[in-house]
Amino acid sequence: MIEDGSSPHPRYITGIGVLALPQLPAGGLPASPVTCLRNVWIELENGAVRRIGPEGESSPAHVKSDECFDAANGLVTPGFVESHTHPVFVLSRQYEFHLRCQGKKYLEIAAEGGGILSSVRGVRGATLPDLTALVRKRFTRFLELGVTTVEAKSGYGLSLKDELNSLKAIRDGAEGLLEVSPTLLAAHTVPPEFKSAPDSYIDLICNEIIPAAAEENLAEAVDIFVEESAFSVAQARRVFEAGSKLGLGIRIHADQFSSSGGASLAAEFGAWSADHMDCTSPDEIDLLAKAGVTIVLLPGAVFFLGLNKFAPARKFIEAGCKVALSTDFNPGTSPTQSLPLMMTLGCNRLKMSPAEALWAVTMGGASALKRQHRIGSLLPGYQADLSLWEAPDIDYLPYAYGDSIPSAVFKKGSLASLKGGLCSGYVMPAD
Ligand SMILES: [Zn+2]
Repeated sequence: MIEDGSSPHPRYITGIGVLALPQLPAGGLPASPVTCLRNVWIELENGAVRRIGPEGESSPAHVKSDECFDAANGLVTPGFVESHTHPVFVLSRQYEFHLRCQGKKYLEIAAEGGGILSSVRGVRGATLPDLTALVRKRFTRFLELGVTTVEAKSGYGLSLKDELNSLKAIRDGAEGLLEVSPTLLAAHTVPPEFKSAPDSYIDLICNEIIPAAAEENLAEAVDIFVEESAFSVAQARRVFEAGSKLGLGIRIHADQFSSSGGASLAAEFGAWSADHMDCTSPDEIDLLAKAGVTIVLLPGAVFFLGLNKFAPARKFIEAGCKVALSTDFNPGTSPTQSLPLMMTLGCNRLKMSPAEALWAVTMGGASALKRQHRIGSLLPGYQADLSLWEAPDIDYLPYAYGDSIPSAVFKKGSLASLKGGLCSGYVMPAD
């Protein structure tokens, strides 16, 4: 029982001022992406939504208060689905931010041994229990901020042992807390020991790291950073072939700083997601739409690097692409864990509507994780992952920028977080 007498495992969420119901993709992002019902209740059963009461009825008749959780006339949204994060690192990198404030460029800092490589040194020097504890702390923060499912990448290990350790930290860090979709990103950058022979590192990834991760069931997908400073399209093709052969999904980091051809490759392989896409050409946008690839836009990285070239979100939407928004949470280019802040950037910089932005952090994220029939909405049958906000409508989330924190978060029908803090004794219900 919680302080006001309501249940942490309620059968009903009552007194919902506005219930936001993201709709399934109609090919791409739907024209009316979110249906809002006013003054309703929902019934939960076995960790899923069983039914939604009629509009204008705040509670079903004859229910006991200990069966209910009162939403106090607030906004209820699905739990957010965060579709692109790099949570396995040791130290924060505010010194790079300091250098960038003095005018230094991200790629200059990386070329001098900062950037991704500085995080690689940290992960290689850490024990698995230490890494797991750090990842768990970050996942807990995501949950408190309304994220109930998170995609999480390795990519600061860059060796067989350290990439597998990173994936184990993701698995163990999420246990009993939230649902995780792990991605192997061994091809994040070329490690120093392979600097003169990057193709030999691709051999290691394809012949040893991907098979080991698949064998131990540690990853759902493979990912690669395609950019002049990282890997080529030809190298990405090899990684995708090795991953596909073992049944893993495909993700790509591409077109962040320049158009590389990575988007065409993602379309050719039917990737689960193509991420960044700030510099994608109109022809490639059409290819991605035809292939049904979900586009994961990361405006926080553009904003935090002080750049002005934001992704052509409207062109993706008009072409019929499903579009997700994500934080790209990582210690270098986007250290925030706030998806409401990404909604603000989505509206303000990518010219999305608040409803499109909400769809992008719920159903869009679920589409990128191939879970859109189970999470990302609160239609009957969907998992009871939901957040309660002290907000009058969905526009308020991106409007109250930098300041939107849910007052309660439920995972599979269990109260996980209250007033921005993890509930003591909370354990995510097993399947
Ligand atoms: Zn990333």
